[in-house]
Amino acid sequence: MEEKLNVLDIVRDQIKTVCGKLGLEPVVYELLKEPVRFHEVTFPVRMDDGSIRVFKGYRSQHNDAMGPTKGGIRFHPDVYADEVKALSMWMTFKCATLGLPYGGAKGGLIVNTKELSQGELERVSRGFIRALAPYVGPEKDIPAPDMYTTPQIMAWMMDEYDKIKGYPNPGMITGKPIAVGGSLGRSSATSRGCLFVAREAARKLGFDVKGARVVIQGFGNVGGFAAELFAEAGTKVIAIADTKGCAYDADGLDIKALEAYKKEHGSVAGFGAANLSKEEMFALECDILVPAAMENQITPEIAKNIKAKLIAEAANGPTTPEADKIINERGILVLPDILANAGGVTVSYFEWVQNLQNYYWTEEEVNAKLEVKMVQAFNDVWAMHEKYNVSMRDAAYMTAIDKVARAMKLRGWY
Ligand code: GLU
Repeated sequence: MEEKLNVLDIVRDQIKTVCGKLGLEPVVYELLKEPVRFHEVTFPVRMDDGSIRVFKGYRSQHNDAMGPTKGGIRFHPDVYADEVKALSMWMTFKCATLGLPYGGAKGGLIVNTKELSQGELERVSRGFIRALAPYVGPEKDIPAPDMYTTPQIMAWMMDEYDKIKGYPNPGMITGKPIAVGGSLGRSSATSRGCLFVAREAARKLGFDVKGARVVIQGFGNVGGFAAELFAEAGTKVIAIADTKGCAYDADGLDIKALEAYKKEHGSVAGFGAANLSKEEMFALECDILVPAAMENQITPEIAKNIKAKLIAEAANGPTTPEADKIINERGILVLPDILANAGGVTVSYFEWVQNLQNYYWTEEEVNAKLEVKMVQAFNDVWAMHEKYNVSMRDAAYMTAIDKVARAMKLRGWY
């Protein structure tokens, strides 16, 4: 039977299950199943050929009981309203798992950036933030990069917002380039955080990341840095996939050479000893599997064949619920997205703190603070996992929803 793959249904099911496990009043689920605010905007952009194109985008502000809402903006042709809502919910729980003083938000614009010139991309980015300007701000809702959005796009968005306000607001957006108020360590933060929690989990499972065989799906910002950082930590990265193929070498890929190859050929396909299909890649004999691409990649068929001991979800929502059940039954440990990829928003938080205090930290300070936060969150979730004998995913949701429910209670929302 075809599995329902609307991510909003998936996240709502997750929330409902966890509210039940925590014995929370039904109203907590009612409060968490919808965003507190959801904005849909359309705006015109002049294209290079002189024509006008109208773009549609969304910003979902899920829950602000813990603080201003926070989360990235994604540019993707398949963006849909329910997806943006679901992603904003994951942000609420991600921030809560890490103990960040934020609620969750997410933005999405329906656009294929590969079809735009640089100038068009800039005008689209400025147009989107102009449309969202009444709803965002350093004390309200703080965007950041997500799929196909970059530090340069963050810089344009900040500049446009500053023009509207008439003064600089570096804390209105994170993931900026360093020269305009970005934080050192932000670009690699999601991947570094993923490595920290994978290292802790490997220890619990009785192996060391050093010498471990790693498979990574995705070679964008997150997958690319993950490959570099896992290799630096002494793992053997044996396979890396992008949308067009999968480079494989049982002896470990040379990441720098692969980066150069991808630059030249536009894909990793053709590099290394073999080009694997997605199914072959997920079925590789390895220790750590890092899905770093997008939602719903690990389906039940794929889950049956996974041979990794540990899955660290660097992407948001890469595992379907049915696949998740199979993986749990098979005894493979999963570090859920809201823990494993929370390094990005954690350093976004550090960036915002630095912007608000106008005092900037060294990269070593940022990385050290990130390590403390990630290890702490891992230990909290691990303790919940052991105490209630639940999966790491349920344990992370229980940790997060418990915190958000308490904040809502104290605020008198129920
Ligand atoms: N888009 C990233 C995420 O899904 C980062 C969000 C942020 O830095 O605010 O976690």
